[in-house]
Amino acid sequence: MKNRHVLISGAGVAGLTLAYWLKKQGFTPTLIEKHPSLRTGGYKIDLRGVALDILKRMGIYSAIVDQRTAIDHAICVDKQGNQVTEMSADLCGTRLEGVDLEIMRGNLCVIMKEAIEDVECLYGDSIVRLTENLDGVHVEFEKSGSRTFDLVIGADGLHSAVRRLVFGDESNFSKEFGVYVSVFSIPNFLDLTACEIEYHSPQRFVNVYRDRNDTNAKVAIAFSLEEPFRSRDPLEQKRVIEKVFADSGWEMTSILSAMKESPDFYFDSMVQIHMPSWSKGRVALVGDAAYSATPMSGQGTSIAIAGAYVLAGELAEAQGDYKNAFSSYEQLMRPFAAKNQALAKMSARIMKSSSYSNWVNRIGSLLPAKVILYFKKLGLKRTTKAANAITLKDYNLK
Ligand SMILES: Cc1cc2nc3c(=O)[nH]c(=O)nc-3n(C[C@H](O)[C@H](O)[C@H](O)COP(=O)(O)OP(=O)(O)OC[C@H]3O[C@@H](n4cnc5c(N)ncnc54)[C@H](O)[C@@H]3O)c2cc1C
Repeated sequence: MKNRHVLISGAGVAGLTLAYWLKKQGFTPTLIEKHPSLRTGGYKIDLRGVALDILKRMGIYSAIVDQRTAIDHAICVDKQGNQVTEMSADLCGTRLEGVDLEIMRGNLCVIMKEAIEDVECLYGDSIVRLTENLDGVHVEFEKSGSRTFDLVIGADGLHSAVRRLVFGDESNFSKEFGVYVSVFSIPNFLDLTACEIEYHSPQRFVNVYRDRNDTNAKVAIAFSLEEPFRSRDPLEQKRVIEKVFADSGWEMTSILSAMKESPDFYFDSMVQIHMPSWSKGRVALVGDAAYSATPMSGQGTSIAIAGAYVLAGELAEAQGDYKNAFSSYEQLMRPFAAKNQALAKMSARIMKSSSYSNWVNRIGSLLPAKVILYFKKLGLKRTTKAANAITLKDYNLK
């Protein structure tokens, strides 16, 4: 096998899945992660379609089922904290075993990391320079000196450093929706058990939930802004959230105050990545780095898993001939990624509409449960179709 030593930048879902499959296919992967430890933040994420098959092939499906979220109902509240509507588990989400699995992002990363314990992982470091030569890629690290690898894969998320170093600035490939997302833990002062709370107001959405494996509650916030906000400074990000949600009622004053102390504050812009090519020479990209779909698609994690599986499989099938492998990886994955990226467009339009909260609250309070279920099922059908829009090869796994 040619080109066995592969450096993967980023130990998120894409990087961990890729490390698993490369190892399984006889490669020697090394992970490098900027964070000082496995980065376990984030909210509930959905796993669907072919991603579920891949997780089964990895032998971690039942561990994920054991740790899936277990919400039994949701309520929507108004500015005064009055309950506007209540939804059963069937209505408030799409948590159907076999079709859709929902798990906290952090718990998924821990399960995946346990499956690759023998893979070298360099924490708290990052790539600063990549120089390709005839023998491989010479990689200079911020802290650990330099090493040469046969191939380098950027699985380092939406703001990928590998993409910037090899392909150019993020702005060349990004499509901004003007919608922002933040996730953070707070003490469970709302005494949540198996109920999640949604609060909709114009161009703003809040969801609070407590995972059964956690003593704290998690808050997910989404909002739209007229002007682009691009700061990566958490203090400025918290300030913009405080401004957007000032005087918004319900429990937001207490939630915003707890946000300031939160140990795992996460903030990002809903940005899609569209690139003319996902590889250059011995370097390729996978997951959000190559084809971010945004949380509004509900499919970012599933397409990251699929991409990692296909990339490792194509490298194995091509016996390490990276040119052929990268080309077929892209050929197989591109239509699938595009179909799933398209799912985000409708959600972005609804979120940006000024009648958003009226729409959600009216639907919740006026329409009979049967009608809501009908629309939910319609949405699920569309997502399920996109989630299955690729045929996985077996790649002759032993
Ligand atoms: C902390 C966190 C919380 C998230 N929360 C949510 C959420 O609540 N809902 C949702 O839909 N999506 C969330 N996402 C995004 C979601 O995980 C991805 O869309 C999806 O899983 C695809 O994963 P990925 O591995 O491509 O990217 P990511 O999950 O973003 O993983 C990228 C990894 O690369 C690491 N990294 C970044 N830069 C470098 C660098 N220069 N060098 C080395 N490593 C680097 C990051 O620390 C991270 O571990 C979150 C991502 C992160 C990092």
